[in-house]
Amino acid sequence: MTSSKQNHVAIIGAGITGTTTAYNLAKRGFKVTLFDSNRYPAMETSFANGGQLSASNAEVWNSWSTVLKGMKWIFTPGAPLLVNPKPSWHKLSWMAEFVRAIPEYEENTITTARLAIEARGYLRRMAKDEGIDFDVEDRGILHFYKSKEDYEVAERVTALLKRGGLERTPVTAEEIHSLEPALKGDIYAGFYTKSDFTGDIHKFTVGLGKACENLGVDLRFASEVCDLNAGPDGVTVVSRDTQHKGAETTKDLREETFDRIVVCAGVHSRRLARKLGDRINIYPVKGYSISVDLPEKSDQDSAPSIGLLDDNAKIVTSRLGENRFRVAGTAEFNGFNRSIPKQRIDPLIIWCRYHFPDISTRQCIPWAGLRPMMPNMMPRAIQGRNPRVFYNTGHGHLGWTLSAATAEAVGALVEAGAMQND
Ligand SMILES: Cc1cc2nc3c(=O)[nH]c(=O)nc-3n(C[C@H](O)[C@H](O)[C@H](O)COP(=O)(O)OP(=O)(O)OC[C@H]3O[C@@H](n4cnc5c(N)ncnc54)[C@H](O)[C@@H]3O)c2cc1C
Repeated sequence: MTSSKQNHVAIIGAGITGTTTAYNLAKRGFKVTLFDSNRYPAMETSFANGGQLSASNAEVWNSWSTVLKGMKWIFTPGAPLLVNPKPSWHKLSWMAEFVRAIPEYEENTITTARLAIEARGYLRRMAKDEGIDFDVEDRGILHFYKSKEDYEVAERVTALLKRGGLERTPVTAEEIHSLEPALKGDIYAGFYTKSDFTGDIHKFTVGLGKACENLGVDLRFASEVCDLNAGPDGVTVVSRDTQHKGAETTKDLREETFDRIVVCAGVHSRRLARKLGDRINIYPVKGYSISVDLPEKSDQDSAPSIGLLDDNAKIVTSRLGENRFRVAGTAEFNGFNRSIPKQRIDPLIIWCRYHFPDISTRQCIPWAGLRPMMPNMMPRAIQGRNPRVFYNTGHGHLGWTLSAATAEAVGALVEAGAMQND
């Protein structure tokens, strides 16, 4: 960045999107303050997700077949897509916009594939430059199908992804067996994407947070941003310490003014955007994971090494180092609800037992997270109405895959804005 008077940027949220944004802006020479209500980075949706950096999963969900399946699944226990039928204005308006985005299905799938390919490159570079160990498994991702019909649908998706620059190689059941001998069960065929990989999002974000600190980023953990006001000369941020009882009193509130702000607050971005005069219609789409401990050599040998995606069950998996195996899935429309009911975790354990019968599932850590999902499934790396306000949010089911590219995009926007205001 060339010299600038107006270069202090506040970032709200130290999940994967906020931390990659902080790193990008610090590298561009900005003074950065990164706020998060939690005591550590990546404690919300970027904590225990599916682990896949998957351009091969770039297909957006806006299609009539998803709508029809969703309607069928509403009353099916253990289904991969669940909708709490109780109406809410937020849910209904979001769903109406989801349907309105169906004509953009092809264009948005191709754009997402391109963005994901670009992001994988940026993320690899960050990990290499900063020496971040995040249990990466660079062995590709395999999508598998149990019926000819599902496989034929996937062939059409493969053709679309190819227009975005991604090659998925068709593989027979025998080839699947030699690619991943640990995978058992009835499988018709699949697609293998060698260039995709997997890794632990929490470990990566913590490592990148340390790199940010080394670059001089002011890390304000345990600081909740409770008010915001964007004016012509700066953005006022009011925060409070979340670690001390009684911090709600006004004397504990801290008010600071920044030159610019980037909102990367995951499912909370919608509420914060409203304070800034913008509409970012994110809905919290809940998902679940189990992290299966692999204590014995027999467990380790029976667990897969490559990333897997069972398109019918909508389940993704990642091997995280020698001793952990992550299984994640389910899209649940149920508001800001973080409960972890047994009936949502059981299908993940049953799936794991079916495909990997020799892994012990004695020790599984269950988790639930809320995907910050836009109705058209496209992340927002944009400038707000006020030229001092920016967003990098709404990454839905692909935040781990896409955030390195959207951080680059928003970093360039902030830099261009700073040049103009100089
Ligand atoms: C079950 C599941 C599986 C998934 N699997 C994959 C996968 O395999 N691959 C993939 O690419 N993606 C996957 N995802 C999606 C991915 O995890 C998310 O898109 C991503 O983590 C979102 O990151 P974020 O930074 O936007 O949000 P978060 O990680 O939630 O970060 C937002 C941060 O903002 C902070 N914050 C919010 N409001 C405030 C405030 N007022 N003051 C201070 N701090 C605030 C929060 O504390 C939080 O730390 C999965 C998601 C789920 C739920």
